[in-house]
Amino acid sequence: MDVHLEDLIVTVIYDNRGGAEGLGPAWGFACLVEGLEKTILFDTGGDSPTLLGNMAKLGVEPQDIDVVVLSHAHHDHTGGLAGFLDVHNDVTVYLLESFPNDIGSDARNRGAEVIKVSQPTELCGGATLTGAMVGRAGIQEQSLLLSTDSSAAVVTGCAHPGILSIVERAKEVTGREVRVIIGGFHLFRDSDASIRGTVSRLQELEVRWVVPCHCSGDLAIQRFADAYDHAFLRCSVGAVIPVGELLCTEHGDEQPPD
Ligand SMILES: [Zn+2]
Ligand SMILES: [Zn+2]
Repeated sequence: MDVHLEDLIVTVIYDNRGGAEGLGPAWGFACLVEGLEKTILFDTGGDSPTLLGNMAKLGVEPQDIDVVVLSHAHHDHTGGLAGFLDVHNDVTVYLLESFPNDIGSDARNRGAEVIKVSQPTELCGGATLTGAMVGRAGIQEQSLLLSTDSSAAVVTGCAHPGILSIVERAKEVTGREVRVIIGGFHLFRDSDASIRGTVSRLQELEVRWVVPCHCSGDLAIQRFADAYDHAFLRCSVGAVIPVGELLCTEHGDEQPPD
């Protein structure tokens, strides 16, 4: 199939911040990637009633999803999987080799194909996993990389290995500059000075669009908003991020596409 990257979009399905019309907030993260050869659910939030309820309100059909990626083995990212598979199990679930066995075996028992990865892995054209990265306390996590011929976007779950390390890994894996970062950046326990340092380092790395969600923390979200101005996109359930258009937009000082 022909892939038109302008059509590549990410929709937030599950986040701590709720959206309009009853889109439930709950602690955790999930988002949907559409516009590539495969439709990808990245993380599943903490519970399936919220995940599936938000999908229904957003008009997302579980049956349209081909791939489920679990970023890491924390419940606020894996908790919705079992209930999702009970509705739709014709999917391939990508998780890390380091995951507790019961998550993979339960998914297989519910009829899904399960692939355990540790190295960078291509899901389809334009979508690649970083492979396992290690964060504080040995927490292993993978992130999703969406790339065009010239640049890349990073989707993180909790960013336990550190958002800066993940951006560096993304550049190595894709050979592209990272222009867009979306997801939980896990800065909610960081000091203001540390947050400011991270934000300015991301600007030095020429990350042009930022969408901090989930565990990024209110202070960090404010700092990103201050530093990035209109290249900061506010995240809540139902937010639609036109990643393909952002990657095609050469400079972050242009207006974001509507
Ligand atoms: Zn976590
Ligand atoms: Zn989390």
